Amino acid sequence: MPEVIDFTTDKRFVRRARELTIIRAMVRLYCRGHDHPGRSPLCEDCAELLDYATRRLERCVFGDAKPTCTNCTVHCYSAEKREQIRQVMKWAGPRMPLRHPILSIYHMFDGKRPAPMLPAKPSRPKE
Ligand code: SF4
Ligand SMILES: [Zn+2]
Repeated sequence: MPEVIDFTTDKRFVRRARELTIIRAMVRLYCRGHDHPGRSPLCEDCAELLDYATRRLERCVFGDAKPTCTNCTVHCYSAEKREQIRQVMKWAGPRMPLRHPILSIYHMFDGKRPAPMLPAKPSRPKE
């Protein structure tokens, strides 16, 4: 269970951009490794998955304080997409250190960061 820290958004954080780079690299690796037809550079299914993951990342409720999605306490992915990205990570994860050693090291450290908790919802004023 990850340690819970206060929600915070810090514009200096670049982890979201880096995470997108990592996801893109993993999906490409997976697509190429499985020789999916019609790649340019991704096949239709993988391109759709990457689009979906990108939208989730951009709209993440944790903002720039987001944990890695694996460590997330919210899990905003649909069940289908979550399973798809899990397959990609499972296959591409062990191959990343060879192809993208620096990104892999960053991702390893990002994965060790404590997951933030969501900010409390503002209470509605009584009428
Ligand atoms: S799974 Fe969690 S960390 Fe990942 S984008 Fe969704 S809310 Fe953010
Ligand atoms: Zn593909």
